[in-house]
Amino acid sequence: MVNLLDFDVDGLVAWFAELGEKPFRARQVMRWMHREGCDDFERMTDVAKSLRAKLAGSACIRAPEPIRDSISTDGTRKWLLDVGNGNAVETVFIPETSRGTLCVSSQAGCALDCAFCSTGKQGFNRNLSAAEIIGQLWLANKLLGAARDAAPDLEKDERDNGRIVSNVVMMGMGEPLANFDNVVTALRLMLDDHAYGLSRRRVTVSTSGIVPAMDRLRDECPVALAVSLHASNDVLRDQLVPINQKYPLRELMGACRRYLERAPRDFVTFEYVMLDGVNDQDAHTRELIALVRDVPCKFNLIPFNPFPNSPFRRSPAERIRRFAGILLDAGIVTTTRKTRGDDVDAACGQLAGQVRDRTRRTVRLATPMEDRR
Ligand code: SAH
Ligand code: SF4
Repeated sequence: MVNLLDFDVDGLVAWFAELGEKPFRARQVMRWMHREGCDDFERMTDVAKSLRAKLAGSACIRAPEPIRDSISTDGTRKWLLDVGNGNAVETVFIPETSRGTLCVSSQAGCALDCAFCSTGKQGFNRNLSAAEIIGQLWLANKLLGAARDAAPDLEKDERDNGRIVSNVVMMGMGEPLANFDNVVTALRLMLDDHAYGLSRRRVTVSTSGIVPAMDRLRDECPVALAVSLHASNDVLRDQLVPINQKYPLRELMGACRRYLERAPRDFVTFEYVMLDGVNDQDAHTRELIALVRDVPCKFNLIPFNPFPNSPFRRSPAERIRRFAGILLDAGIVTTTRKTRGDDVDAACGQLAGQVRDRTRRTVRLATPMEDRR
C-alpha cells in the first residue's frame, strides 16, 4: 500500500500519471487529504467513483497513531506517536494569544548527541518518513479541530487565518537537516496552497548546524531558520554540540550569511540554552557579540530544561536577565523563551518519546503488522 501522505504535490502528480490520471485529480485528492483532513477515499465526493475505487485498492492515507495525549495546565498539548517497532516520537502544540505553534519531530532519536539534550541521550533510531512528519500536522489539525467543533468558541483568538496551527517549528525530536529529503517533502506540503498554505516565515527549521545541508535548504526550500548556537567559542561548542567539531563556528556563521541571501526573514534566530556556570557568563556575551557581528540575527535564550541524570542546571533567572540585557545593549534583539508544558515533559529538550503506559502499548503491538502500517 502506498501512503499518499508521503507525496508532495509534484510527487502525487507523478504517481497519478502512472495510474493514467490527470494532474488536477492529484490536486483534488491533495486538498481532501490535507485541507479537509480526510483519510477515506469514499468521502472524496467530487472524485470520480472509478478513481476512488482504484485508490482504495492501492493506497492509504495514514498518519502515525497517538498512543498518549497529555494536556499541560498552561494549555500546551503533547502527543506521543507510535512509529512502529517500539519507537515513538512526540509532537507538541503550543497555543498562544495570536498564534498556535506546532513543534514537529523529524527523527526517532538523534545521532548528534548534544550534551544537554534528552533526545540526543537516547541515541538514534531512525529517520521519520515524509508521511510521519507531515502526519504530525495532519493529526494535530484533526485532533484540535475536533475539540474546536465540539466547542466552537474555544481557542477562537488562538487561531490565525482560521487555522488552529498557524506556525510550525521543526524543533521536536531529531535533527531535521540529517533527514533532509523527507523533511523537505513535508516542508513543501506545509507551504503548498493545495495542502496547508503556510507562509515561509511561519515555518521554521531548527538545526544544530549541518553546514552543507543549510546550503541545500537555502537552494531547495528556504524557510525561516533557527540555529542552535549554545556556545560562544569553538572549545565550548565542541563539547556542548559535538557536530561543531566537523563544522566549526566560522563555517557556521558563513552558512548563516549565505542562507540569509534567500531566506524569507532577514535574520537568523540563534537559540542559546542557558546552562548554569557553563555558557552564561558576561565573558560569553562579549564573545557572542563579536561572533555574530556580520550576521543579522536575533537571540532566543532557552532556560535549560532538566531531565533525569543530566549533569547541568538551569541558569538563575537573574543571570539570564543580565545576559539578555548585555546582548540587548549591543543592539541584538534578544528574547527569553517561556518554558511551556514542562509539567508534561513537553518543554524543549525534554522530548524522549518515553512510553510509560506499557499496558496499552502491549495491546497495540499484539495487532498484526499489516493492520498498522
Ligand atoms: N535538532 C535540532 C532541533 C531540535 S531541538 C536542533 O538541535 O536545533 C530544539 C531546541 O531545543 C534546540 O535549540 C536544542 O538545542 C534545544 N534543547 C535541547 N535540549 C534542551 C534542554 N534540555 N533544555 C532546553 N533546550 C534544549
Ligand atoms: Fe539532536 Fe538537536 Fe538534541 Fe542536538 S539538540 S541531540 S541536534 S535533537
